[in-house]
Amino acid sequence: MADMNPYEVAKEQVRSVGEALGLNEGMISFLTHPKRELTVSFPVKMDDGSYRMFTGHRVQHSDARGPCKGGIRYHPGVTLDEIRAMAMWMTWKCATVGIPFGGAKGGVVCNPKEMSKGEVERLTRRFTTEIEPIIGPYQDIPAPDVYTDSQTMAWIMDTYSHKVGKVTPASVTGKPIALGGSEGRSEATSRGLMYCVREALRAKRLEPERSTVVVQGFGNVGGNAARLLHDELGLKVLAVSDSSGGIYDPAGLDIHKVKEHKKATGSVEGFPGATNITNRDLLELECTVLVPAALEGTIDRSNADRIKAVIVAEGANGPTLPEADRTLHERGTMVIPDILANAGGVTASYFEWAQDLQFIFWSVDEVNERLNRIMTAAFSRVLSRSAERKVDMRTGAYLLAMKEVVDAVEMRGIYP
Ligand code: NAD
Repeated sequence: MADMNPYEVAKEQVRSVGEALGLNEGMISFLTHPKRELTVSFPVKMDDGSYRMFTGHRVQHSDARGPCKGGIRYHPGVTLDEIRAMAMWMTWKCATVGIPFGGAKGGVVCNPKEMSKGEVERLTRRFTTEIEPIIGPYQDIPAPDVYTDSQTMAWIMDTYSHKVGKVTPASVTGKPIALGGSEGRSEATSRGLMYCVREALRAKRLEPERSTVVVQGFGNVGGNAARLLHDELGLKVLAVSDSSGGIYDPAGLDIHKVKEHKKATGSVEGFPGATNITNRDLLELECTVLVPAALEGTIDRSNADRIKAVIVAEGANGPTLPEADRTLHERGTMVIPDILANAGGVTASYFEWAQDLQFIFWSVDEVNERLNRIMTAAFSRVLSRSAERKVDMRTGAYLLAMKEVVDAVEMRGIYP
């Protein structure tokens, strides 16, 4: 399964949940076909005066519940099938938390680490021009993903605005605050995850102050999750890691000092007073909550039966492979699935879009309060659905999300 094409995996998920929902073959087929796909090839002038051709994709899986929404990634390994799968997962993620978007995703095959800032800017502006006919604030709203950031979004917004002749901040989210970005967006994924962990602990009747957490990945999601779970929820952080390895301290890590150490040395490893630990051993530590927030596929057949956490909160997309999912469910581990646990990011994107459309901006407290309400309600819906159907939370989330989309499709009717 690990080597399976992600689009095949995504389609298989729809098929199996579709059967559980009693959907007919026509509806399953409808849900497994992206609504629109655009592949473009375009030249970029490089700093040495030469021209290079690049290929990019934008896939819109569904707009049944609202405009399409999803990130744009710049990576040498981008494929159309990967983008299709991620566009489909965005549809289910938006439906799980009940925000009025469908799913999209985009990508350009390139290695921005080997390009100058000027080259990346020209690539971004030309790619935006190529996909401009199908994006827009009521059609499809891009956001950052792997190797794209708020600067990339600023260039997309500027280029789109020039193309349509109007300043259009709602054309893209994840922008700098000065250009219509939202307060709270940068930590919203981790904050949403924290709200889910809070609700999971409550459901398991566990006290946060007596609970411990282990976090794999110390980037945007993992680093902020470790900090928030400790500072705002009171969990003891036993271990964290990055790509070079992990650190473990049974007495609890001071996350602010770990951040400073990583900033100074480039890695969490070697943090004074802590023991170095491999990324593999870290996943198997005794703890209340495990947050995989690095890569996909880190919990697989080989380690699933050694995971000791009571709750796994998926900060990353797809960290648990399907075969491991079954093992964890049988062992009674509560897995808060990625389409719920990390949906705080797209929820804050929705807030940014809504603020931009009105040119009225909210305080960080207002953003966090709205995020809290949406995540808490979504967690409760997913937990109830999985209990009713006696299935794990991932299946519960899919049952709920796909039903939302199917209802929207049926209410709108098949045109003409
Ligand atoms: P990031 O690049 O900021 O951080 C990734 C972290 O993982 C880094 O600390 C890196 O050192 C570490 N890492 C890389 N390879 C590793 C390995 N083999 N073992 C252990 N650690 C490793 O990325 P991010 O934005 O935090 O995203 C992390 C995951 O969360 C991705 O799956 C991403 O798709 C998902 N996600 C992110 C957001 C968001 O808002 N940033 C939203 C939803 C989902």
